[in-house]
Amino acid sequence: MNEYSVLISGAGIAGPALAHWLHRQGIRSTIVEQASDLRLGGQAVDLRGLGEVVAQRMGIMPRVRERIVHEKGLRYIDSAGRALATMPADLFVGDGSPVTEIEIMKGDLTEILHDLVADHTETIFGDRIEALSDGPDGVEVTFRSGLVRTFDVVVGADGIHSGVRALAFGPESDYVVHLGAYLGYCTVPDPGPLDSWFDMYSEPGRMLALRPERGGTAKAMLAFADTGLDVDRRDVASQKRLLREVFAGMGWRSEELLAAADADDEFHLDTVSQVHMEHWATGRIALVGDAGYCGSPLTGMGTSLALVGAYVLAGELGRARGDHAAAFARYEEIMRPYVVASHTLAPGGVDGFLPRGRFALRMRVLTARLMHHWPMRQLVAKMLDKSEAIELPEYEWAELASA
Ligand SMILES: Cc1cc2nc3c(=O)[nH]c(=O)nc-3n(C[C@H](O)[C@H](O)[C@H](O)COP(=O)(O)OP(=O)(O)OC[C@H]3O[C@@H](n4cnc5c(N)ncnc54)[C@H](O)[C@@H]3O)c2cc1C
Repeated sequence: MNEYSVLISGAGIAGPALAHWLHRQGIRSTIVEQASDLRLGGQAVDLRGLGEVVAQRMGIMPRVRERIVHEKGLRYIDSAGRALATMPADLFVGDGSPVTEIEIMKGDLTEILHDLVADHTETIFGDRIEALSDGPDGVEVTFRSGLVRTFDVVVGADGIHSGVRALAFGPESDYVVHLGAYLGYCTVPDPGPLDSWFDMYSEPGRMLALRPERGGTAKAMLAFADTGLDVDRRDVASQKRLLREVFAGMGWRSEELLAAADADDEFHLDTVSQVHMEHWATGRIALVGDAGYCGSPLTGMGTSLALVGAYVLAGELGRARGDHAAAFARYEEIMRPYVVASHTLAPGGVDGFLPRGRFALRMRVLTARLMHHWPMRQLVAKMLDKSEAIELPEYEWAELASA
């Protein structure tokens, strides 16, 4: 290990992935996570295309496969729960597919990544960066706990509401673009038999969905279209009241899912947003994952972007041998086309996700049925594939002890 040191803010997906790849470049890193322990909650996330390639290179696929959520695919249903159209998981392959074969609970993936780095990466829980002073010899970091330390480089891997971004680049409102929808999710402890489908029931401008989890529970998603609400993301009680108003009178299992949201301490509602930035680095400070380029849950690309971004950033920092400016420039150059492609929403954008009228809803079902057929299937697969936007660089990595 050389003396070069990197501080990573955030122990979600991008943070530990970056620590792993830095370790394999002989670079020491420290992770600071504001939660008091690993955050093991969260929804199922998709591992697709190049994200899966990077996961393979990390050697974590055997553990991922042990914890995979067996999901047949996406099923549009009517208010009685009858299937209107299905999109099986093997319908498309590649980065931008709306359905994917590798689904894993976000908490499971977080734990696998943390285990990978626990032996060699110092992780500080229950603290966060309070101030950053970027100087010629390093970044002086003041933590909320009062600790002051200096690092060669600081990386914000602290998600869509990134603290590092706010400190080093400016307020969230300059970078986070609200796409016009809200999405809440909660756990349903006893959903009954789901037949392994990700069921989605829609009415104009609102949607309820239920997807199976490992262990027999399910995750409910409650989404609605709106741009102008004043929702405080920390005021969970008023969010739950808002959901009751928005979903009043909705069919299917709405009462049951609203009750599950009420009962869930980890219920979470946020805007459906993307992060758009001209640069992901300033001085000795850089961003990776959702902090720099969140594509929103609508793209399904968040995990893959975080894993690929961590791989490229660590590879370039290792290759540049201390020249962080050169490393950050290459990181941006390589990642930019992939991020731009990954931010492209499926046809219809938010209106495709939450159609506003009955006719549009019927058209979506029809389109889903047509997707089973050539040439529609080939056309859509080509349109959704993001992997051509980036050529994953090869770097020289130190082998893992067990490899
Ligand atoms: C409802 C929903 C559905 C999604 N569905 C999918 C999907 O199907 N497929 C997919 O690929 N992706 C999906 N995503 C996105 C995916 O979860 C993220 O894009 C991905 O986890 C990005 O990882 P990250 O490490 O950048 O951020 P995160 O996983 O958000 O991790 C950030 C970490 O930083 C910590 N943190 C935050 N602020 C601070 C601070 N100031 N100081 C220290 N630590 C801090 C947080 O506690 C957290 O541990 C979904 C997201 C949501 C919200």
